[in-house]
Amino acid sequence: MTSRRYQHAATAGAVLLAAAAIGAAIHHHYVPACGFALSVLILIEAALREHRRHRRAQLECEWARRRALGENPAPLNPCCLLARSSHGQAHDHNCTGEHSLEQFLAQIEAEHRGGS
Ligand SMILES: [Zn+2]
Repeated sequence: MTSRRYQHAATAGAVLLAAAAIGAAIHHHYVPACGFALSVLILIEAALREHRRHRRAQLECEWARRRALGENPAPLNPCCLLARSSHGQAHDHNCTGEHSLEQFLAQIEAEHRGGS
């Protein structure tokens, strides 16, 4: 739950900095107000990124739970975070698609047995 803690800290920081920006603007300190406003935007982006990361972790946990119960859930979109960042060239060890390491090793073993 570390991402949740980061999300809450970034949200609280954004709220405090927004109050500081408003206070600085009321007292005609526009340069610090712009700095506070910029910091608010950065912290909002961080909070949203942590929210997306937490949501993805929840979806992966639910997918793994359903898989462990014997169901055959559809792969997540994207199948894994490494595939998204590598544009489909590489896949993570916990890939939810057909590119998992176990399936790759099983395919190699099947090819090796079939070839010899
Ligand atoms: Zn993948």
